[in-house]
Amino acid sequence: MTGFTELHRHLDVSVRLSTLLELAQERGLVPLSDSLPEFRQKFILNEPMRDLATVLANFSLFPQVLDRPEVLERAAFEACEDAYQEGTRTLEFRYSPGFVTSHSKLPWIDTLDAFEAGLLRAKGLYPDLSVGLICIGSRDLGIDSIAESVDFFLKHQTRFIGMDLAGDEAEYPNRLYGEIMKPVVQAGASITIHAGEASGPDSVWAAIEYLGATRIGHGIRSIEDSQLLTVLRDRQIFLENCPISNRVTSAWLDYATHPFKTFLDFGIPVSLNTDDPGIFGNTLNDEIGIAREVMGVSDANIRKSFHLARKHSFLKGLTVDEYGN
Ligand SMILES: [Zn+2]
Repeated sequence: MTGFTELHRHLDVSVRLSTLLELAQERGLVPLSDSLPEFRQKFILNEPMRDLATVLANFSLFPQVLDRPEVLERAAFEACEDAYQEGTRTLEFRYSPGFVTSHSKLPWIDTLDAFEAGLLRAKGLYPDLSVGLICIGSRDLGIDSIAESVDFFLKHQTRFIGMDLAGDEAEYPNRLYGEIMKPVVQAGASITIHAGEASGPDSVWAAIEYLGATRIGHGIRSIEDSQLLTVLRDRQIFLENCPISNRVTSAWLDYATHPFKTFLDFGIPVSLNTDDPGIFGNTLNDEIGIAREVMGVSDANIRKSFHLARKHSFLKGLTVDEYGN
């Protein structure tokens, strides 16, 4: 047993709740009188959102508190520690340099140095943890920010394990980014793209055909297109499913009909992930519990999905055997 593998967890939205409260109170963003239970009650979203503004307000707290390298280092270390305590031993974090510096205006390189330092400290304490960083270009921040993300990724390619595009896929469709992502594809980088979460199968098609994605963040709406399902299976394109996130953001409301089990049964490689634990208050064990108890996925198939995640990880040098889950 090599522990769980998690491939889709946003580092810049994974600040430990007690630390988030402490940092937010220091900066006068949350009343000093708020206790941790009160803050949890107010901040953590675990029911389907009623309005986007609430979710966006929650997201905006993270760049406001992640304002100095030492804070980023601490957040990264603790995020590794939290995942490790959940039983995860192979861990891919991703973050958006554009998003995380949107308030602080820190140089992007400072975010990479600081996050990487936190990861290295965690690896020192937990030597059996494999962890790496994926660089995100945030579609919401505009085409220039995506171009800057691509340049940043290529310049520091040895320090990242892959590249991702995230953010509003309806307003900023994936097909727009083929040209801009071309150097990343040509560099032979590992690419995952957020697609098929808020938008339909076209978004997933574009990620595969134009952006060189071998993995898809979410991809749940692929279920609407049988031809796409066949392509995902035949080409073994991996889907990073995040059921709790899907319910809270209203991308998929009902766990019982969530397509995770259908994907797995059909032969598409797929796994369970937390996405944004700093906002949803979820753990990987919560995701596993839902798959097992509500979706009716067998323990053997849950183990299989972790095995698939390890096999499709962008981290180099992992051993993957039949039981390497
Ligand atoms: Zn995500």
